[in-house]
Amino acid sequence: MNAPAQPSFAPARQREVVDALRRVVPAHCVLFDEEDTRPYECDGLAAYRQLPMVVVLPENEAQVIAIMKACHALQVQIVPRGAGTGLSGGAMPIADGVVVSTAKFNQILKMDKYSRTAVVQPGVRNLAISEAAAPHGLYYAPDPSSQIACSIGGNVAENSGGVHCLKYGLTVHNVLRVRMVTIEGDVVELGSGALDAPGLDLLAVFIGSEGMLGVVTEVTVKLVPKPQAARVIMASFDDVVKGGNAVANVIAAGIIPAGLEMMDKTSSRMVEPFVKAGYDIDAEAILLCESDGTVEEVEEEIGRMTDVLNASGATAIACSQSEAERLRFWSGRKNAFPAAGRISPDYYCMDGTIPRKKLAQVLLGIAEMEKKYGLRCANVFHAGDGNLHPLILFDANIADEFHRAELFGAEILELCVEVGGTITGEHGVGIEKINSMCVQFSPAEREAFFKLKRAFDPAFLLNPDKAIPTLHRCAEYGKMHVQRGQLRFPDLPRF
Ligand SMILES: Cc1cc2nc3c(=O)[nH]c(=O)nc-3n(C[C@H](O)[C@H](O)[C@H](O)COP(=O)(O)OP(=O)(O)OC[C@H]3O[C@@H](n4cnc5c(N)ncnc54)[C@H](O)[C@@H]3O)c2cc1C
Repeated sequence: MNAPAQPSFAPARQREVVDALRRVVPAHCVLFDEEDTRPYECDGLAAYRQLPMVVVLPENEAQVIAIMKACHALQVQIVPRGAGTGLSGGAMPIADGVVVSTAKFNQILKMDKYSRTAVVQPGVRNLAISEAAAPHGLYYAPDPSSQIACSIGGNVAENSGGVHCLKYGLTVHNVLRVRMVTIEGDVVELGSGALDAPGLDLLAVFIGSEGMLGVVTEVTVKLVPKPQAARVIMASFDDVVKGGNAVANVIAAGIIPAGLEMMDKTSSRMVEPFVKAGYDIDAEAILLCESDGTVEEVEEEIGRMTDVLNASGATAIACSQSEAERLRFWSGRKNAFPAAGRISPDYYCMDGTIPRKKLAQVLLGIAEMEKKYGLRCANVFHAGDGNLHPLILFDANIADEFHRAELFGAEILELCVEVGGTITGEHGVGIEKINSMCVQFSPAEREAFFKLKRAFDPAFLLNPDKAIPTLHRCAEYGKMHVQRGQLRFPDLPRF
């Protein structure tokens, strides 16, 4: 079992920071008693925990500015936090640091059906934007499976994706403008209300920067019209390799489905009793292939996709006949992560991206690793994007199982790099994949990342020790494997 994290800060320092924060925000916005800060000890990667010294919940931008200035003056480290659904430990606190939570900072400021944009505060939930846009026939396209809970600030920081990002793009393609506060308390606007902005494209640099460059205080998102019609095909395959090849064949046929997802047999068997989505639990793999557009476009595309899937060896094909059935087919995929909890006490969700044509090869590699590490793995993919989400199943009560899961995960990411892919697709690096950054990037590339970080945050106060590994860390990683994200020699210089 994961033991609760213990406090690890000097009481006098805590008092100093609490006093400074209470001078700039109302007292009820500053949490420091252990029972109040405990809920913030981890994000969705619950295996890694750290109790924060202080949590502060600003209610407006002026308070964020004041908090940043206060923390900067005291040289206290800050971890921005949205809804805490992140899966890479990006919002994991620092022992003697401050968590800045945007939970109270959750107003939709403007909904403009003419420019098809919305201006929202960072704590607004992803799904709440689409709900507010629905009366105008619009919605916000990036749809992480966590969209009922995750915040737009977190989405910006992670460059989040979702099942419909194959056709509509990731967060970076759907955000026009970000307003953020630097560690020194300066307000900076990146991007603009128009499709382009003067100067360097710092918006693209900022999106996906995992809370290391500034705290997001306002986001302008693009909205897209709700398609007139949408239908989804569920195709069964008796072999994961055939399923993987079918994904490449659909794209090679010139079709960009609205969503193209794959689940292996372990995943569909794990989900079906829970969600009753109607999945073929005897298939080795199922593909969900969605088409949207006008009724005529959908009919034509569904016909073409059916032909490609049949030619790729599908053993059964079912197509949603109603909106209710379409949502039911997706509900299984969207609930895959929580369903893992039904068959395993713990799971470790990996996130790598590979060229689509390598799907089958990587699936076979993962099957070999299951034997090597003695752990099961359920595979769920944003297959059209080549984005893998292997869920490694383990029991933290059994000695060494989590460690084996970490090694298993790291080896999957190494395989992703080996076949020409990357160590993350949409969940970010955080603390979870920081060692794998050593595999993906050369020392010169990592130094370039540090230079960028220093340009925004010279004192390394904003979410430090996440996402970019030091030379020392990589040297250590080459010699040994790190457990629970912890360094063996934490005293080594950071930069
Ligand atoms: C069941 C489940 C399913 C998921 N499915 C998907 C999926 O389909 N696609 C996907 O991409 N992700 C998915 N995720 C991961 C997660 O939901 C996303 O990464 C999401 O964007 C995190 O948002 P959050 O508000 O919870 O951020 P948090 O977890 O609170 O923080 C994430 C990162 O953002 C930073 N951050 C948060 N707010 C701010 C801010 N205002 N300013 C600056 N930095 C900030 C934090 O420091 C941290 O580094 C899933 C997670 C779960 C638990």
